[in-house]
This record gives sequence, C-alpha cells and structure tokens, in this order.
Amino acid sequence: MESMYFTEEHQMFRKSLQDFLKKEVVPHIEKWEKTGTVERFIWKKFGDMGFFGLAYPEAYGGLDLDLFYTVIFLEELQKINSGGFAANMWAHAYLAMTHVNKEGSDEIKEKYLAPSITGDKIGCLCITEPFGGSDVAGMRTTAIKKGDTYVINGSKTFITNGIYSDYLVVAAKTDPEAGHNGMSIFIMDRDTPGISATKLDKLGWRASDTAEIAFDNVTIPTNQLMGEEGKGFPYIMQHFALERLIMGINSHARAEYALDYAKQYMSERTAFGKTINKFQALRHKYADLYADMEICREFNYSVAYRLNKGEYVVKQATMSKLKSTKMADDVINECLQFLGGYGYMEEYPMARLLRDSRLGPIGGGTSEILREILAKMLLDDKNYKPAT
Ligand SMILES: Cc1cc2nc3c(=O)[nH]c(=O)nc-3n(C[C@H](O)[C@H](O)[C@H](O)COP(=O)(O)OP(=O)(O)OC[C@H]3O[C@@H](n4cnc5c(N)ncnc54)[C@H](O)[C@@H]3O)c2cc1C
Repeated sequence: MESMYFTEEHQMFRKSLQDFLKKEVVPHIEKWEKTGTVERFIWKKFGDMGFFGLAYPEAYGGLDLDLFYTVIFLEELQKINSGGFAANMWAHAYLAMTHVNKEGSDEIKEKYLAPSITGDKIGCLCITEPFGGSDVAGMRTTAIKKGDTYVINGSKTFITNGIYSDYLVVAAKTDPEAGHNGMSIFIMDRDTPGISATKLDKLGWRASDTAEIAFDNVTIPTNQLMGEEGKGFPYIMQHFALERLIMGINSHARAEYALDYAKQYMSERTAFGKTINKFQALRHKYADLYADMEICREFNYSVAYRLNKGEYVVKQATMSKLKSTKMADDVINECLQFLGGYGYMEEYPMARLLRDSRLGPIGGGTSEILREILAKMLLDDKNYKPAT
C-alpha cells in the first residue's frame, strides 16, 4: 500500500518491530502506565535491537538508515497505545540525541551518543521554563562563563525523561542581554551537583516521567558546550522541523490505530438488530475521519521524503504538526463515540488514547505558535534558514 515510500526491507523492519513490541513491551504497558516509570531493561533491549541508532552514524554504533525507518519506528510505537511510553523513547532518540549528534564534539559523541544508541544512557532535552515555553528566546536560565567552566542557574519544566535520564541537554543564556543570539546548548550528567528534579502529575502520557528541573550553581567544564556559543536558538529552531514532523507522524499513526480499532468494534457491536457499522450516520462519519487521517498521513510521508533528501522543510513540518495533531484529537474523540459507554472505560483503548493525544497541539510548539510561524512565512515572506 505504501510502496511509494516503503521498500520490502522497510516492511520487514516493521514486522520485526511489531513482533518485538508485542512480545517485549505490551505485557508491561499497564504497569508502566500506573507507576509512571519505564523500567531500565527495556531501554537496553531497544538499544540491543538497534532501534535508537536507526538514524545515527555507524561510527557511534548507529545504522545510518533512511528516515522511513524512523517513520516506522514512530508509527508502531503509537500503535501499542501508550503515548507516554512512546514519548520516552522518541524524546530520547530524537530530541536529546539529535542535538548530541549534530552539535556534540567527537568527545561528547563518544561519551553520550554511543551509549545512547546502545540504551545504556538515556537523555532528555531541556528547553521549556516555568516562566514560559512558547517564547523560547525569553528563557531565563543562565550559563555564565567562569574560567574554564560554565555556571548554570535557573529552572526548566515539563521535561520528558526529566527524572530518570542520565544526561541532560540544556539550553541556557550565555549572554542574557543578547536576546536569542545569547543562547547556547550544553550537555551535563544527571549527577552533577546542583541538579534536582521533581516529578509532575499529568492528564496523559502517564508512563512518561515529566519533570521540573532546577539548576543551582551547576558547574560544568567549557567542553560541555555543544556547538558554538550563542548559536543555541538557531540549533533549536532547526531541529524543531524534525521534532514537529515526528509529532505529525505520531498523530496520523495514533489516529489510524483508533480507526482500525473502531472498525473492528463496529463490526461486532450490535444495536437494533444489526451491527453498528451498518448505520449510515456512523459509516459516513467513519469515511470522513478516515479521509482526514489519510490526507495527513500522505502529507507527512511526503515531508519525510523531502527531509530525508536534505531539504529544510520548516514550513511543511509546521503544517504537519498543526493539522495532524488536530486531526488525531478529532478522530480519536469520534472513535470514542463509536464505542458508546465502552469508549469511556479504561479497559478499552480510547480513553487513554484521547488523553494522550491531547498533548499533541501543546508540546513542541503550540498550535497558536505554529500558526504564528506559518503566518510570518505566508504573509510576511519570512524565510527561515538552517543554522550554519
Ligand atoms: C507532557 C509534556 C511533555 C513535554 N516535554 C518537553 C520536553 O521534553 N522538553 C521541553 O523543553 N519542553 C517540553 N514540554 C513543554 C512544551 O513544549 C510547552 O508546554 C509548550 O511549548 C508551551 O509552552 P508553555 O506550556 O509554557 O505555554 P505558554 O507559552 O505559557 O502558552 C500559554 C498559552 O498561550 C498561547 N500563546 C503563547 N504565546 C502566544 C502568541 N504569541 N500568540 C498566540 N498565543 C500564544 C499558547 O499557545 C498557549 O495556548 C512538554 C510539555 C508537556 C505538557
């Protein structure tokens, strides 16, 4: 069906990933959803299977595969119905590790990227602050150079893997007077003195640990700066293209999962002497929802194709997240309705899907901010360029 983008090798990878998730992950999901902790052994198994290295260089143990392996990885993670588990995995593999790979020195890559690929080290990406997440340039955390060290002070919030990760990729102001030109990216070990984290309780993504993190005179050597000083903002913006496409892909995948589940349910549930998939009102609704999902899916694949070729797809990735997250919320909400009262029950997948999906239009750039970006590109002819 998806042969325009997926080869036979891709499909074999999908099948083996599905089998792996069914055998190694699904039996633990309920427990992890309750405890809010994903146990260490599964990180290691993901590493052993090569899943964290799909997109990373062979020199550090990665597989250096095309982006459609990542697309499959993301899609299948959405189809085991734990947005939180999926978030832990992709936030490590694509939020934290992207910065380590792109901006880290060889020394940093040896120390952090290689063990991230094997699943021995878990990372998190710390950008959002309690005073505001949308206004990234307005962040208040500082990293002041003192001799051959930087001293970090401030706080971050809503950080995925913020409690159980081994290292943190942190954005901070090295020149607080210089606006977005004064921001830099650092890497630091969890056990560096002065770092503390508090777990947050939340609506969904319950298997994921989300944390508020404080930095109190955290002192790190200058070689833990990643990339160039003052370039943090363009680095973050550049990687947002991948992050937003990831959230778009996640959205079409969970919507597809909801639709597949609803199809099966509607073929079994009876009312007024027939299965509910015979009621025209529901059939037409289903047809609309499926079309919305498929339009997003096809668009997301085309953006992935262009990103894979090296194009800077900031506009398309922004559209992908904006439209796909809304579509997923709508599709899942309606699929819950197809299940009637059972849709509202925790034993059935729609309740968790609905609350997990709600993060889509918020995390990694709210829909309002995405519209702002698009409006600037479309109406003011603003041209976003990759960091050089
Ligand atoms: C479960 C979860 C996991 C997360 N994981 C991470 C992570 O791993 N790392 C990380 O750094 N962050 C993470 N985030 C943070 C997330 O990216 C932010 O919550 C998001 O960017 C919004 O920031 P905010 O919450 O501070 O909202 P605010 O910026 O305070 O915005 C509040 C409201 O105002 C609107 N608004 C703000 N500015 C404008 C404007 N100019 N025009 C119109 N409307 C506007 C927003 O759209 C929103 O509706 C996570 C969040 C959650 C909930």
